[in-house]
Amino acid sequence: MDCIFCQIVAGKVPSQILYQDEEIVAFPDIRPLAPTHVLIIPKKHIPSLAHLSEADLPVMGRMVKLANQLAQRGGISQSGYRLVINCGGDAGQIVPHLHLHLLGGRRLSDALG
Ligand code: 5GP
Ligand code: ZN
Repeated sequence: MDCIFCQIVAGKVPSQILYQDEEIVAFPDIRPLAPTHVLIIPKKHIPSLAHLSEADLPVMGRMVKLANQLAQRGGISQSGYRLVINCGGDAGQIVPHLHLHLLGGRRLSDALG
C-alpha cells in the first residue's frame, strides 16, 4: 500500500484526526492554503472523482455533510468556505485518493481556474 492517504487511514502515517467513523476520515492538510484547510476522505481507496461508482454516492453525501459540520465547528460557517475536489492532472490532483478540501478563514480568491 503506497497511497499516503490509505496510510493515514491505517494509522501508519500520523495525522491529527479531526473526525472519523467507519467510512470517513478528516484531518488537516499538511500544507494549509487557508486558516482552515481540512481534507475529508473516504476510508475506501477511490483513486479520483472519476472513479466514483453509484455505490459510493452515499459516502460522498456524508463527506459533504461532514464538511458543513467541520465548518461550523471551526467557526467559519457564517464567514464562508469553499469545498474543492481536484480530479486528474489538469486540476492539480496530486494524491490519487479521492479527497474533499474544506477551505476557509480568509477571503478566498475569486478565480476558480
Ligand atoms: P490535491 O492537489 O491532490 O487535491 O491535494 C492533495 C493535498 O494533500 C495537498 O493539499 C497536500 O498538501 C496534502 N497532503 C499531501 N500529503 C499529505 C500528508 O502526508 N498529510 C497531510 N495531512 N496532507 C497531505
Ligand atoms: Zn488510498
